[in-house]
Amino acid sequence: MKTTIRKCNDCGSYTLSTTCPKCGKATVMAIPPKFAPGDRFVRYRLEEEMKKYGKNPDKAV
Ligand SMILES: [Zn+2]
Repeated sequence: MKTTIRKCNDCGSYTLSTTCPKCGKATVMAIPPKFAPGDRFVRYRLEEEMKKYGKNPDKAV
């Protein structure tokens, strides 16, 4: 199930509807694509990997 939280730029209220329940204006997606959870997870895993190999590079092979 996919839920997208939207925000009204006019009054600042959050809603799941494409129109604001308060003022009836069009809403926009509240979460920018660059904050996608998948991307953050990949960066975290990469850091862990670098730490692992950075600890003892001589014994890795
Ligand atoms: Zn509104």
